[in-house]
This record gives sequence, C-alpha cells and structure tokens, in this order.
Amino acid sequence: MRKIRIGRSAVIILIAAEILGGCRQIEASSQQEAAAREETAAFEETAAFEETAESEETAESEETAEFEEASFAGTLNSTPQAAGSDPADSSPQPGPEETGEEEERPYNFLTSRKYTYAEMEEDLLRILNGYSDCLEMDSLGETSDGRQIYHVIIGPRTAGRHVLITGSIHAREYMTSQLVMRQMEQLLRQYRDNTVYRDMGMQDILAGTAIHFVPMVNPDGVTVSQMGPDGMNREETKERLEQIRALDGSTDPSQYYPVWKSNAMGVDLNRNFDAKWELYNDHVGHPSSDHYKSTATETEVESRALVELTKAYPFVRTVSYHTQGGVIYWYFEQTGELRDVNLALARMVEEETGYWIDSDYTKLDPAGYKDWAISRMGIPSLTIEVGSGSSPVDPAQFEEIWERNKNVCQRILRSLAE
Ligand SMILES: [Zn+2]
Repeated sequence: MRKIRIGRSAVIILIAAEILGGCRQIEASSQQEAAAREETAAFEETAAFEETAESEETAESEETAEFEEASFAGTLNSTPQAAGSDPADSSPQPGPEETGEEEERPYNFLTSRKYTYAEMEEDLLRILNGYSDCLEMDSLGETSDGRQIYHVIIGPRTAGRHVLITGSIHAREYMTSQLVMRQMEQLLRQYRDNTVYRDMGMQDILAGTAIHFVPMVNPDGVTVSQMGPDGMNREETKERLEQIRALDGSTDPSQYYPVWKSNAMGVDLNRNFDAKWELYNDHVGHPSSDHYKSTATETEVESRALVELTKAYPFVRTVSYHTQGGVIYWYFEQTGELRDVNLALARMVEEETGYWIDSDYTKLDPAGYKDWAISRMGIPSLTIEVGSGSSPVDPAQFEEIWERNKNVCQRILRSLAE
C-alpha cells in the first residue's frame, strides 16, 4: 500500500501500490476522512499529522477493495445524488460560485491569482469529499522534492475508451492547473446531476468513456516558479536549484525562478519523451530552467508517470494544456486515419475555443508528450496553448481562458458518444 497525504489537514489517503488498481478504496473511506478532517481542522498547522490513522485505514481499505470493485458502476448509475457529505454539494445548483449559503469558501481555483500545489490539494480534498461516488483519485508517483502527481478518473475505469487531460507539465504554465481543476469540478457536477449537454445526459456521455485528469504534472516545477528555492521541501533540492542557476549563468534569482519550466531536477519534462528525442538538440547540455532533455528519454518520475498511465488504459484522445499563444498543435507527421481523426479533433477544439490551428510542427521542439502519444501510441492528441503575452500568464486572463475552454472536455466526450 502507498499513502498520500493531502494538504495539512491530517487526512491520510491510502492507495494501492499498484497505482491504477487501488483508488476505489478512497470512496469507502472518504466519509470517514471527511469526519476526520473536521475533527483535525483545528490543529491544521501542527506537525503532528504524519502518523495519523494509518493502520486502521489500511485494514479497512484492503477489506473493502474487492467489494467496491464489483459495485462501482452500479453505485454510479443508481445513486449519483448520494455523492457528497457536504450540504452545499447536494443542492440542485451546487456551483460554489453560485451558492449564496456560504460559510463554505469557494474553491481556490475560482479565486486564486497564482494557483499553488497546496491550493490544489485543498481543492482536491473538497472534491474528493463532495463527489466521492463519481470519481477515483490516486497519485501517479512522488516527485524528487516529495510532491504527488495527482490523478483523477471520472466515469467507469473499465470503459472501452479513455480521454486524458493534463496541465502544468511546464512549471511556469501553472494557470493550466487552475483551468483543468475547474474543468474537472464542473464535469463532476454535471455528471452527478446528469446535466444535458448537446442533447445527451452526462451520465450517458460517460457511460462508455472515462476521462482522466492530471491537473499538475510538474508540481515541483510549479513551486519553483512560484516560490523559488525557498518553496522546496528538501535542502538538497534547494542546493540543486542554486547549482542549476549557476550553470545557466543567472545572477538574478528574482528574474530567473519565476520563468522556470523544468522539474526540480532541471529537466524540461516536455522534451523527455521518446518522439524524435535523439534528433533534438536542446542547446543546453546540462540541467537547466528550460529545454534540457536529459541523458535519455523518460528519465524523470513525471514523464514516466504519464507514459505508464497512457499505456495502462485504452486512451483515444489526449489534451495537454500549456500557455501561451491561443493556438492548437496537433500535427506530428501522422498519416492516414490517425491524421484525419487528429485534424478533426483539432478543428472541433478550434471551433469550441476560437484558438487557431498550427500544423507546422517543424518549428516546434519535438520529444513532447503529445508527440509521443501520437507517434508511439497512435492516439489523436492535442497541445492547447491558452492565454497571451508571456508565461506566467497574467492572472487577469483567467476568466477569458475559462470561457473559451470550459466545454472542451464535454465536447470531446460528446463526440465519442455518437
Ligand atoms: Zn509549455
């Protein structure tokens, strides 16, 4: 078993070591965890949370895993309204932005101007408690500085088709985590309420398809970009970052760290995949804030996590959110049906978002996740670059970005349900 701690609220979530097999356990224990959370909220800031409740939760999780495996689909379809221990989440229009009854704060993704890993963890915990019957959550791995790569599945895990949405593989592009979290929560609400989208209920749309979210692929890097070395958990990471800064020849940390793109090892994760990697000259040759492709493909926890996830399910679409440019990339020399389907996907998202399509991949660096998903896995895939200006994108753009992208997941899922 593996355990994940979400935030500072003394909740320990246990998941199976087999990352994609065990998250259903969370369903059963989430009520208990909600109670535990309330009990422990008062001493949030203490450091005592590390040892809490491990052993009994382990035992309970093991006992219930098999039962839940069998009953998940039935539970979903028969009692979607049962989701949520939180009164705000059982109201007909439960959007936290719309409920006037608040003692409950809105989700951080609605208000944040610099969406952090800690804010995301808090939001994930609320989502987990509020929609426990509608999702599964686990971690794809722990990063070098000790953060989790959270992964959520909505819809039946045994579905024949799966869709993947990711954010923040590039550190300074953390607004994409905020976007993906908001997409995810909206979709959960619509799924639970069976909201009709383009003449079909969301539960029917998701009957044969599951959608996966990895809202923050690179949590260490995001934290470097937002907080610099001071935000790191481990001394060795702080020292490494300063060494990398010296290698990069930077003399001004206040200019250097905010535009960090890599993970905390100094590898540009989106140049670490097996897709023309060997042909790519990163012009760096050493760990760096940007571009360094590493000594081989998939050397990093984060890139391996995406590769393993992608191989574990029959994915039929992937979308990687980046900033910025207002552009959709879809082409990586694919031919035949793969090309046609991928282009149709790009055109649909173009229509949905108003972003333009760029088919000239030669001006882009290769060895990205999308490139790998297309060329090695044959999955129609997109990179969507949201926002304008430079990264990190101005927080004032978030609402406009949300408006353009708020139905991208639904649109893709609906197109698969036809
Ligand atoms: Zn990027």
